[in-house]
Amino acid sequence: MAIDLHSHSTASDGSVSPAGVVENALEIGLTALALTDHDTQEGLEEARRAADSTEIELIPGTELSLEFPSGGMHLVVLWLEPGEGPLQNRLQTLQDGRSGRNTVILEALTELGMPITVEEVEAEAGGGSVGRPHIAAVMMQKGYVESIQEAFDSWLATGKPAYRGRPRLMPEEAIMLARESGAVPILAHPHTLNIDRAPEMADLLKRLRSAGLVGPEAVYSAYQQHERDGYSHLARRFELVASGGSDYHGSYKPGLNLGNGYGDLVVPESALEDLRKFAASP
Ligand SMILES: [Zn+2]
Ligand SMILES: [Zn+2]
Repeated sequence: MAIDLHSHSTASDGSVSPAGVVENALEIGLTALALTDHDTQEGLEEARRAADSTEIELIPGTELSLEFPSGGMHLVVLWLEPGEGPLQNRLQTLQDGRSGRNTVILEALTELGMPITVEEVEAEAGGGSVGRPHIAAVMMQKGYVESIQEAFDSWLATGKPAYRGRPRLMPEEAIMLARESGAVPILAHPHTLNIDRAPEMADLLKRLRSAGLVGPEAVYSAYQQHERDGYSHLARRFELVASGGSDYHGSYKPGLNLGNGYGDLVVPESALEDLRKFAASP
């Protein structure tokens, strides 16, 4: 009996299709799998079709990037149903904001003497969703830069003159909205927060717990046993649930398998039952 509560498909930045991830999970004998693509639930329908009439329990989820000063804060949200809801609607608004982000980048480029129109970028994207790679391609076509790489290195990458961040939810807001939506918010891979001091991590967990956080992701592929034990201990101390998952990305994270991570990952099935108690429609 094995479970995996953190995985990605081609719907975000994994290399395997949503149905492929489910088939993979069935092959290795997982009893439960959460599909948690970044900022989207688009893979879920296909995954559900693949999981239908099989033994596996497919948990609908997503992984959100949140605003956090010292490092990357990701929130794995389990049992989030696609469609309408407090968190779902807020995410839709943010998604619409992506076009807003592109507009401010184009404004910045114009001010920097490299005018580009929205129409030019949309044409480059060919009807798909528009992002910085398309802006970079147009910059090259117009002779502002020699290469896509130069467009990023000199202008578009984080901290460069035409960089504008994507708006993100604040941690407390995301956690509260997740709970209001009947979903179960988990603080993913806490090490990426770049918090070195244990008391600081404890304070953060306490703060997020009062907003409704259900648990940290303690059993994680990249962790050694003492780290898994440490985060599990912290979870118990604050009456949180120690969650776990592989963070599978297919061939984009070589050597990292669904289910058992780098070979030694075992997410306890008891975690699933403890987490389920917090879900509105488990
Ligand atoms: Zn993550
Ligand atoms: Zn992830």
